[in-house]
Amino acid sequence: MPAQPQTGPIAGRLPADVLARNFSDLHPPLSAHEAQVAADRCYFCHDAPCVTACPTEIDIPLFIREIQAGRPETAAREIFEANILGGMCARVCPTEVLCEGACVREAAEGKPVQIGLLQRHATDSLMARQGHPFTRAPRTGKRVAVVGAGPAGLACAHRLARHGHDVVIFEGAPKPGGLNEYGIAAYKTVDDFAAREAAWIMGIGGIELRHEQWLGRDVTLDALREEYDAVFLGIGLSDVNALGLEGPPLEGMHDAVTFISALRQTEDLSTLPIGRDVVVIGGGMTAIDCAVQAKGLGAETVTLVYRRARERMGASLYEQELAARRGVRLIYEAAPVSVEGEGRLSAVVFERMAEGPDGLAPTGERFSLSADQLFRAVGQRLGNANGLEIAHGKVVTQGRGRTGMDKVWAGGDCAGGGDDLTVTAVAQGRDAAEDIHGSLME
Ligand SMILES: Cc1cc2nc3c(=O)[nH]c(=O)nc-3n(C[C@H](O)[C@H](O)[C@H](O)COP(=O)(O)OP(=O)(O)OC[C@H]3O[C@@H](n4cnc5c(N)ncnc54)[C@H](O)[C@@H]3O)c2cc1C
Ligand code: SF4
Repeated sequence: MPAQPQTGPIAGRLPADVLARNFSDLHPPLSAHEAQVAADRCYFCHDAPCVTACPTEIDIPLFIREIQAGRPETAAREIFEANILGGMCARVCPTEVLCEGACVREAAEGKPVQIGLLQRHATDSLMARQGHPFTRAPRTGKRVAVVGAGPAGLACAHRLARHGHDVVIFEGAPKPGGLNEYGIAAYKTVDDFAAREAAWIMGIGGIELRHEQWLGRDVTLDALREEYDAVFLGIGLSDVNALGLEGPPLEGMHDAVTFISALRQTEDLSTLPIGRDVVVIGGGMTAIDCAVQAKGLGAETVTLVYRRARERMGASLYEQELAARRGVRLIYEAAPVSVEGEGRLSAVVFERMAEGPDGLAPTGERFSLSADQLFRAVGQRLGNANGLEIAHGKVVTQGRGRTGMDKVWAGGDCAGGGDDLTVTAVAQGRDAAEDIHGSLME
């Protein structure tokens, strides 16, 4: 009889070559020839719906035409003009619900132009060159503090530096990139791309990065407002929501964001402990990424449980299918009730849910899943509000990121009006920078 895999989180469930395969590039880059062929499929639509669907409004037909003409670096300049994190967005954007979802060839044939891969082809070509494609305007003498070096903060800092302002980024973590560095699934951004991209963005000059400077601990908002001409907050959502389950806290219960962050930072995936029977609770990208990566590390069973119906899930159908293809079992319309175990987790009890006229309600039907590891991925929330007005858990902003506090702007996940995507954070950081620039030059 074959030996049963050992229960409880343990490291090294899979050999190195299998781990390497499981965490390899999800969408490998196109060759030059493949890019030509993909570009040839574009109709170069007038009023292109793909552009409207892009939160950074990249001129997609224009850049695809440049690739078609054999000029990927000119294409990349077009992309970076609108979105300086175009390289990361090409890797992580849910294109199936954004540009590619809107592509006329998707509607006509169910096969969109491969916009994401074409964008990656272009941006990789230009980033492989020495130097930075943009130069700074003459120095204005104005100084702006940017808090947070995630996509919103980096996009804001770059645009401000381009306009000639001097920028200091205050970042709480040891490395820049925000969730690009600590959150996005490892198989979406391989080869340390997040760190390389952050360094490349700062290559424009005029941006000083101060690590391990946490707003509210090492520096205050009042002090920044005093010292700088403007402040941009791109602090994301640094706290995680709790589950509130019945039963004592047990070994084997974790939050998904901490697990993913450890996975992204490890030098050696075989050192990460993973359970034999893993349960993930949640319905967004974090839940999917956690489940797929748990499976990739060698968990024997991984079950993702979401309380609502499939179509209500925050993660796209594409992401759900990816998880299913990678061996994750998805259970919809069930909510966790309690955990079982003596000191260490052994099972999670769920109750079936049903959507009725008064919203989601428990049906009374219960079932139990064996589990030696449980990850909760039920959303992140804002940490310290630093005295700013909050609504629906986010900093209230008007127009292009103005908060109610004098000299303070905010954007990205921490601010209202977005949809918690990398590309939206970039758009909000860029737009706030334009607004700050306008107000500084009045
Ligand atoms: C697990 C996971 C997977 C995801 N996958 C995808 C994906 O595939 N595609 C996609 O489009 N989106 C994805 N997202 C969402 C995306 O990562 C975010 O929308 C995006 O990173 C938001 O950018 P941001 O700059 O607003 O915040 P963040 O990326 O969170 O960056 C905020 C930065 O501010 C710093 N900071 C926070 N508080 C302070 C403080 N008080 N003082 C100083 N610094 C501070 C943080 O350390 C961090 O560096 C994912 C999110 C998660 C959690
Ligand atoms: S909608 Fe599709 S075919 Fe039309 S311009 Fe955009 S990518 Fe090209």
